[in-house]
Amino acid sequence: MLLGIHCSISGGLHKAFGESASLGIDTFQIFTKNQRQWKEKIIETQEKSIFLDDFKTSHVKLIFSHASYLINLASNDDILWERSVRALIGEVQRCHDLGLAFTILHPGSAKELGEREGIKKIIKALKTTLQETKNSALKILLENTAGQGSSIGYRFEHLKQILDGADSARIGVCFDTCHAFAAGYDIRTKTGFEATMEELDSIIGLKNLYAIHLNDSKGELGSNLDRHEHIGKGRLGLEPFRQIMNTFSHIPKVIETPKKDNMDAVNLEVLRGLINT
Ligand SMILES: [Zn+2]
Ligand SMILES: [Zn+2]
Repeated sequence: MLLGIHCSISGGLHKAFGESASLGIDTFQIFTKNQRQWKEKIIETQEKSIFLDDFKTSHVKLIFSHASYLINLASNDDILWERSVRALIGEVQRCHDLGLAFTILHPGSAKELGEREGIKKIIKALKTTLQETKNSALKILLENTAGQGSSIGYRFEHLKQILDGADSARIGVCFDTCHAFAAGYDIRTKTGFEATMEELDSIIGLKNLYAIHLNDSKGELGSNLDRHEHIGKGRLGLEPFRQIMNTFSHIPKVIETPKKDNMDAVNLEVLRGLINT
């Protein structure tokens, strides 16, 4: 069972290992740089060796990153699109240098371009990124979105079209529970959860699912609101998490709930308590 949280890198990338050790987790997600700034970051030799040493001596088995929120591979603005591709290439290189397994990416926002054209731009961007990072086996996982604004990825069909277009074993999918519910997939009950996962399997294929984000939802079903809530404290309740903890034990899972007091520890405890129930 790989279960963890999104760890902070404040004070340095290796700081994530202190947080993960204190929580006793075996996987985590990080940002490899300030996710709200375009400024690129090169991993220095020393920073890299400290991180790799800590990784080796830790109990952590697998680490992945979340790409910058600024990246928009569906942008119709050529400058923003180019910048986004550069930023994704930088992300893949940093993850590769740090021994990470994959990076998670929001597919993009098409705005006036429309979904069809937006998806074409995303495919082109991914192809360029893969081409320019051929030295790496790092996977890029497309995350399903809540459908806020004109974001692409709120239907499994979008992700499938991108997977088909990019046509590479280095592209996969990450399933976010809050986003799925906000996008209209009713996973609150066992039957609803199973139906959603069957849909995911028939459209995308479960073999392409490499990670799960465990988040309860502040927003209602179909609200398109991307607002994460603590596990069992939102509109989702505990059932979808019970299902995931018991049927997707082989897939790495992290929570991305608000950082407050000891809530990461509390949420992890709630999730562990759902096993075999
Ligand atoms: Zn995300
Ligand atoms: Zn997420």
